[in-house]
Amino acid sequence: MSTLIKGGRVITAADDYVGDVLIEGERIALLGESLDVDADRVIDATGKYVLPGCVDPHTHLDMPFGGTVTIDDVTSGQTSAAFGGTTCHVDFVIQPQGATFAEALEIWRAKAEGKQVIDMGYHMAVTDLREGGTLEELARLPEQGVTSYKLFMAYKGALMVDDETLFRTMEVAAETGALVMVHAENGDAIDVLVKQALAAGNTAPHYHALTRPPETEGEATNRAIQLARIAGAPLYVVHVSCREAVEPIARAREAGWDVWAETCTQYFFIDYSHLERPNFEGAKYVYTPPPRPRENQDVLWHAVRSDILSVVSTDHCAFLWDGQKTLGRDDFSKIPNGAPGLENRLHMIHEFGVRAGRISLNRMVELLATNPAKLFGLYPRKGTIAPGSDADIVVFDPEKRHLISAETHHSKSDYNLFEGTEVTGTPEIVLLRGTVLVENGELQVEPGFGRFVERAAFGQELLPAATR
Ligand SMILES: [Zn+2]
Repeated sequence: MSTLIKGGRVITAADDYVGDVLIEGERIALLGESLDVDADRVIDATGKYVLPGCVDPHTHLDMPFGGTVTIDDVTSGQTSAAFGGTTCHVDFVIQPQGATFAEALEIWRAKAEGKQVIDMGYHMAVTDLREGGTLEELARLPEQGVTSYKLFMAYKGALMVDDETLFRTMEVAAETGALVMVHAENGDAIDVLVKQALAAGNTAPHYHALTRPPETEGEATNRAIQLARIAGAPLYVVHVSCREAVEPIARAREAGWDVWAETCTQYFFIDYSHLERPNFEGAKYVYTPPPRPRENQDVLWHAVRSDILSVVSTDHCAFLWDGQKTLGRDDFSKIPNGAPGLENRLHMIHEFGVRAGRISLNRMVELLATNPAKLFGLYPRKGTIAPGSDADIVVFDPEKRHLISAETHHSKSDYNLFEGTEVTGTPEIVLLRGTVLVENGELQVEPGFGRFVERAAFGQELLPAATR
């Protein structure tokens, strides 16, 4: 099967030109100004953008949290991703306490078996590290294509690790070529503040933010950076939300240290005041780190423009407002932390990043596709449009209007963080490995089409698969 995408504006992190893209089988075969070739199918992309499929390095599908499970499983979450132009993501395997990493991977692979719509990889979230067992096993994960270790510096009594586990993991990463990812918040201080708030009868959703002040994120970010420096490990800070965390990252990058970081779509748009919405509506915006005071939004836009932050992810971690978020109606600490977002990252960053003049189209592609692919061992198979790369392509209509709403989104969540926002520009056709995933507003493949991708070690390229 061959497909010719004709006359579109091809935009990568580096290039921007009108041309044709020839796909043969699962890969991009040829690029050119006006290709004189026959193909089984021709897609006229005149007036459209031809973008690499977006890569989301931060999602949580079918994940247990706080006595419930995220509402999006692999199929609904990945369908939502596909409609938003995301063709590959990296999800978190969470090591259950006492379990080996092999056991954890087995549990997560079973959740995805036969259900995948797009391609995916896994990070390993380390919760429990023991000598004579998981410590040694951790070093062998990269051989299985799991080339990043995630550590939670918060969620005391659940996912949080101490500095010893954090530091030992960094030492292993320095040896094995894995990338260490941190959820950076001071979980001990937050635990004290949460207990004090509840003891004082402060139970409403906005106390979620008041008990996790920006300084707790700044402190933990700086601690992780300094520890990674000692261990000699590369570090990636997830979901940066505020000035206090941006500043130590900016310093580290200016010094040329191996530190990278992301923010997530929602931090540009949702602020602290959303948590104060009446009738428990504030619970929709309970995710971690919490929505910050509005002035942080300009700090984040500046940081993605100036390459202090390298990636925009979604941290998609969807729950129902009615039935799941309501577990915390009388106690903000029992509200499941997370929100949907996989479907609207490209919509929102195109509208308020590119169209608003804050970033270029090239930078948008870099933030949503190329950098996440490079940092997580997927490039150049994913994250760009080049001969030999997987034919993961978004034909994007920059003129078409789209109203974002829970009524029409593909997540199972009963709300959308950006409800009622009208954007100009939306994916029209989405291809994964040369096959049309989404067209005419319909999903065109059956679950089971997506594949697990074994990622390369940090800093290494993932070359096209040898056999196709
Ligand atoms: Zn997350």
